[in-house]
Amino acid sequence: MKYFIGNWKMFGIPRSIKIIDRINNFSNRDKKNNKKYKAIIAPPHTLLQDFSRKFKNKKVSICAQNCFEKDRFGAYTGSVSAFMIKKIGINYVIIGHSENRAYGENDSIIKEKIFTALKNNLNIIFCIGEDKNQKRKKLTLKVLKKQITKVLKRNYNLKKIIIAYEPVWSIGTGKIPKPAELQKILILLKKFLKSHFKTRYNFKILYGGSVDSKNIDNFKLMKELDGFLIGGASKSSKKFIDIIKKFYK
Ligand code: PEP
Repeated sequence: MKYFIGNWKMFGIPRSIKIIDRINNFSNRDKKNNKKYKAIIAPPHTLLQDFSRKFKNKKVSICAQNCFEKDRFGAYTGSVSAFMIKKIGINYVIIGHSENRAYGENDSIIKEKIFTALKNNLNIIFCIGEDKNQKRKKLTLKVLKKQITKVLKRNYNLKKIIIAYEPVWSIGTGKIPKPAELQKILILLKKFLKSHFKTRYNFKILYGGSVDSKNIDNFKLMKELDGFLIGGASKSSKKFIDIIKKFYK
């Protein structure tokens, strides 16, 4: 099963619900393929409770874009805990997005976030990715391995963690990796995950970074790829649906 996860970032107001409605309706009608994928949308925190109610038991699920690193309640002005997210019926959260890492979210904060999200039984979209400089120095795999091992523990319920490989240089830039390069990274990363975590579990890895309906064909044949994290193109129902349509064409 493939994931198509839309990350709205700091966009969206109550009436943006119609975007999700259209995606949900499309997915309901898409009888031929709708068992092959799961569509999930991550709106900002302000819309989570309302959207979570409206899309309860629907084809499309709702995801939080982040959670605070401390559990339950506390004197943390402006923060929202994984516990609070779970309590409004949300089952997914994005953690470690490079836009948050750029604002100081380091491995130790991400580690705490993942711990509290797991404790509250959330499914985690865990973002990792190298920047332009690291790619140029051929450090990609080293960076990805470090981002994973600094944060995930062997005794975690690893099935709750979906890795989103998002090269920083690709987010919002229109640039995507060469298919052969991406394929190689996916294969090596999956192999590493199995051996490091001493498991036969086949980790789910998504790709994220400038995915749209014009470049989606590049990803079609990658059987190691378990889906996509989609930023810009998820704010329009047409663009998001076109990605799914083209992927299964
Ligand atoms: C993202 O922010 O997770 C992302 C993939 O953005 P975009 O698709 O706009 O590059």
